[in-house]
Order: sequence, then C-alpha cells, then structure tokens
Amino acid sequence: MSKVVVIGGGASGLVAAIQASHHHEVILLEGNDKCGKKILLTGNGKCNYWNQDIHIRNYYTDSLETLDNIISKDNQTEVFSFLESIGVYPKIKNNYYYPYSNQATSVRTLLLAEIERKHIKVIYDFKVEHIIKNNTNFIIQSNRDEIICDKVILATGSKACPKTGSDGSGYDLALSLGHTINLVTPSLTPLKGEEDYFKEWNGVRCDGKLSLFIDNEKVSEEIGEIQLTDYGISGICTFNISGLATKSLEQKKKVTVNIHFLPFLTIPFYDWFTMRNETIPNHTIEELLESLLPYKLMFVLLEKAGIHRKDEWKLLSESKKRKLSNLLEAFELEITGYLSFDRAQVATGGISLSEINPNTMESLITPNLYLVGELLDVDGKCGGFNLAFAFISGYLAGRSI
Ligand SMILES: Cc1cc2nc3c(=O)[nH]c(=O)nc-3n(C[C@H](O)[C@H](O)[C@H](O)COP(=O)(O)OP(=O)(O)OC[C@H]3O[C@@H](n4cnc5c(N)ncnc54)[C@H](O)[C@@H]3O)c2cc1C
Repeated sequence: MSKVVVIGGGASGLVAAIQASHHHEVILLEGNDKCGKKILLTGNGKCNYWNQDIHIRNYYTDSLETLDNIISKDNQTEVFSFLESIGVYPKIKNNYYYPYSNQATSVRTLLLAEIERKHIKVIYDFKVEHIIKNNTNFIIQSNRDEIICDKVILATGSKACPKTGSDGSGYDLALSLGHTINLVTPSLTPLKGEEDYFKEWNGVRCDGKLSLFIDNEKVSEEIGEIQLTDYGISGICTFNISGLATKSLEQKKKVTVNIHFLPFLTIPFYDWFTMRNETIPNHTIEELLESLLPYKLMFVLLEKAGIHRKDEWKLLSESKKRKLSNLLEAFELEITGYLSFDRAQVATGGISLSEINPNTMESLITPNLYLVGELLDVDGKCGGFNLAFAFISGYLAGRSI
C-alpha cells in the first residue's frame, strides 16, 4: 500500500482519489475551503457532464494519438458505469448528458459522498506551493505545512475561471518537475472586434455558419447559434472556435471570422433573392428580408451595403446587389481580442500530452507523478467534453495506481 496525494479537488481529482483509494492510503489536498466549486457552475448550473459522441474530433490537443487512447470506447464505458454506480443518472438532450435532476450540485454531492464512504482524508485550504521530488518520494509543501508521499496525482485544473480555485498554479508545479507547458490561452470564450456597428446589433441571437480564418487560411467552421454583442461575438459557435483564435492572436497572427447568416440556403443568395423578387415583385428589401433576419441585424447589413430598407431589389445597382449578397453569405469581421480567463470556461494549451502515458496518465518525465484534467493540453468543445475528459483521465490515473 502506497501513500498517494491528490492535489486539487475538482472533477478530475475527486474521481482520481476515489479510484486510487481502492488499494492505497489517499490524501486529497484542496486549496479552497470546498471541493468541486467549478462543477457547480457547469452547464448553467445543470452540469453537462458527458456526450454521446466523445471523439477526438471534438477536442483540441497537441497529441491526438495520445488523446485517442485516453478516451477509448472501453475507457468511456468503464468511466460512465462508474458514474452511474455512484448515482449519476443521465438525462440526454441532443447528445448532451445532464444529471436527471438537472442540478450540477447532484454531481458534486455524489462524488463527495463517495469520497466520504471511501474514508479519503481531505485537507482543505491546503494550497500547494512546491513539490520536491527526491529518490524515493515527494515532499508536498504549502505555506504552512508539508506532506511526504510515494505518488502524486496533479489535478489542479487550468487558469480558466480562477475564482473557483484553478489559478494556474499547477503549471508551475508541473514545470518544476520537468514538464513542458504549451502556450495557455482562454477558450470557450467570447471574441472581440473594434467595429462601430456592434452597438447596433448588440443583443441579436441568430443561427449561422461561422468560419475562422488564421492568416487568411480557413481553419475551422461551426454551424449553430451566434450571439452578436456590443464588443463582438459570443455563443456556442464562437466558443468552439475561440481557443484557436486566442492562441493565434497571442502568436500575432491575423484572425478573421466569416459569418454566413443564411446557411440553410442551397443556392447563392443573389439567385434566391432574384427568384423571390419575381414571385413577389415590387417588394422592398425590408419586406424581402422580413422573417429571415432580426431587424437589428438587417439594418446593419443594409447600411454596410449602402441600401435603404425601402429600396426595391430590381432597382438596385448590380454592385449593391452583389455587396448585400456577400454580406449575407460571408460577413467578414476582424478579431482583435477576447474576453479573459475570468470569462472563459476552459483554457487551451497546457502540459504537453505527449509527455503522458495514455494508459496510466503517469508522467513520462517524472515517475510516480500522474497528471489529469484540464491542466493538460486538452480542451473540448461545448457539450460535456471537458468534464468527460476530466473524469476519464482522473479515473485512469487512480485505477492504474
Ligand atoms: C462557467 C463554466 C461552465 C462550464 N460548463 C461545462 C459543461 O457544461 N460541461 C463540461 O464538460 N465542462 C464545462 N466546463 C469546464 C469544466 O468545468 C472543466 O473542464 C473541469 O471542471 C476541469 O476539471 P479539473 O478537475 O481538471 O479542474 P478544476 O475543476 O478546475 O479543479 C481544480 C481544483 O484544484 C484546486 N487547486 C488548484 N491549484 C491548487 C493548488 N496549488 N493546491 C491545491 N489545490 C489547488 C482548485 O481549487 C480546484 O478545486 C465549464 C467551466 C466553466 C468555468
């Protein structure tokens, strides 16, 4: 029996501690006065903890091959059964899994109940500042105490939403033990631009296709809800491309997005508008666009095209027709910034996944050190992928010990 210290009582650390406790003495160190603060905020308080389609295509990482092994179908089945075994029963909505109660607090309570049942010692307000590795063991130090142990599971999360306790201190701990930290920037976060018309479209929610261009090359595309705000864009589509955007901005690359506001159209908008105008001639542009676009958005597009809402399509110059069609199908917006870690749901980047054994989550650099959860260079899109990764990686580390 070894003495195992788990640092961080979030989603990954709680599961890791429970699994490791089957064969070892486990101590869980948490910097806060409570565990799982972030879990309570997830899924707007409902905790979207899993997804029907857990696959590498829904993640960003520096090692897709390692990630593919970690989130293998067998591991998914085992971890999902574990969650059910402690009482987390799912309610499934469009592939997103929530606890049946629709309450994030249920997930935290069930994990903590298991921690108690397994007699795992939890030390609160223990903020780890240093980890010293010698030949036989680890010395874990806070500013007031130290603990010696045989194995360490580092589950300190990222820098996102630091008010929950994940302030990025885990990166320094991993760095001190020889690990590489890939550039860490916010993800699942709104993106900013610097356009005057933002105040006009503020508050609009619409469906569309959002394409991300880095240095003029298309790198990603998302279809779904886009929110237009007084600083730029937000919503699920924006969140899902935001990690690539924030990283590229930090690397001083040019970041633009292209929005197709009517992606359901199967023919070019110009042709569609011409056909529609033939069916209902003499209608104003406003009447033709009525029911397709929210007014605030329509007026921004018309103003940019230099068209008055009472103008008739057939009387417009060819260049104005082309301009409006282009704005509707490929509205270009330069991204110049993003909302910070305070507003981001996760961080992209982190400890290189290529430094981890995917079967055990053990460090390939420092034996007996295990790294799990969002601290690693893995971040998922919206939909339960991040908690799923935290649970799976935590489970593997605890089980393999
Ligand atoms: C608002 C919001 C909504 C979200 N919604 C979803 C969602 O619906 N679905 C989803 O899949 N994901 C969601 N996420 C992301 C998800 O919550 C995280 O990816 C996940 O919780 C990460 O788990 P973790 O265990 O790696 O880290 P965390 O949950 O961040 O836990 C880390 C723990 O370590 C402790 N700690 C940190 N440093 C130290 C130290 N030096 N010493 C001791 N303790 C330390 C912290 O206090 C914290 O308790 C959301 C995130 C946010 C912020």
